[in-house]
Amino acid sequence: MRAVPVDENMAVIKKVGVIGAGQMGNGIAHVAAVAGFDVVLNDVSGDRLKSGMATINGNLSRQVAKNVITEDVKAKALGRIALTETLEGLADCDLVIETAVEKEEVKRKLFHDLCAVLKPEALIASNTSSISITRLASTTDRPERFIGIHFMNPVPLMELVELIRGIATDDFTFEAAKEFVNALGKQVAVSEDFPAFIVNRILLPMINEAIYTLYEGVGNVEAIDAAMKLGAHHPMGPLELADFIGLDTCLSIMQVLHEGLADSKYRPCPLLVKYVEAGWLGRKTQRGFYDYRGAKPVPTR
Ligand code: NAD
Repeated sequence: MRAVPVDENMAVIKKVGVIGAGQMGNGIAHVAAVAGFDVVLNDVSGDRLKSGMATINGNLSRQVAKNVITEDVKAKALGRIALTETLEGLADCDLVIETAVEKEEVKRKLFHDLCAVLKPEALIASNTSSISITRLASTTDRPERFIGIHFMNPVPLMELVELIRGIATDDFTFEAAKEFVNALGKQVAVSEDFPAFIVNRILLPMINEAIYTLYEGVGNVEAIDAAMKLGAHHPMGPLELADFIGLDTCLSIMQVLHEGLADSKYRPCPLLVKYVEAGWLGRKTQRGFYDYRGAKPVPTR
């Protein structure tokens, strides 16, 4: 079993709880289990957990096929992941990482309920893309043991993790989180606690501008994505990337930037709002700026 030793007086991180078995949660469970941590994955229903585990299984198999890991590592990693539909199931974790939807009221309620059952010395982290860590920490009984651990999507492939201290986060928590991230084989970038941190502060306004470019008829979906892939050497076009991130998550991040920085340059594009209102959230709902229901993605505009 993997353990991050942090302080002789404190518990080590051996068991990691993950709240939310969506694209980020299942990725975090995957990399933590491969690194040797015991993982408890939580979601609101057995179906969500089942689908999260199916994704982990598929992604581990892909890593085996590419010789990134062996069959033995895959089997051991799967054996380290336990599932629970209740927060009580996370009570004895040393670190709990929250990866539920990007809605502040959902996260606030989760942290409130989690603190009632989680052992007092455990650390709590949020994988939020944009919400203030200081504000989320204030909803817990342990703001000094609360930190932002912001993974990138897809978690098994991306090297970077942003660490964000809230105003109260203590050095112990910061060092423990850093060691944990390094134990996963990932690099840390430290960001101050300002809306959307570093990566999304830069990336999301670019995606939003691409959506304005579509909205104003400057180019169609294909032209905009081809322009940025071939003209700026981006590995994915901005609209393809928006579908990959999830249009609801993109909109939430733009709203946090707009409200948090009170600058009109961050106003979410009305076309992004319309797609979200339609429930066209990108790949996860099979429709966004592209329609994924057929063999090949087809632009929807
Ligand atoms: P997702 O929609 O794929 O998954 C969210 C999961 O949380 C769902 O399975 C849902 O059932 C579950 N959930 C909702 N409420 C819950 C509750 N009360 N208890 C337990 N589970 C609950 O979303 P995602 O893309 O995985 O994003 C999750 C978080 O990670 C968000 O805060 C998002 O901003 C952040 N994030 C996303 C990306 C990205 O590219 N998608 C990147 C970095 C961080």
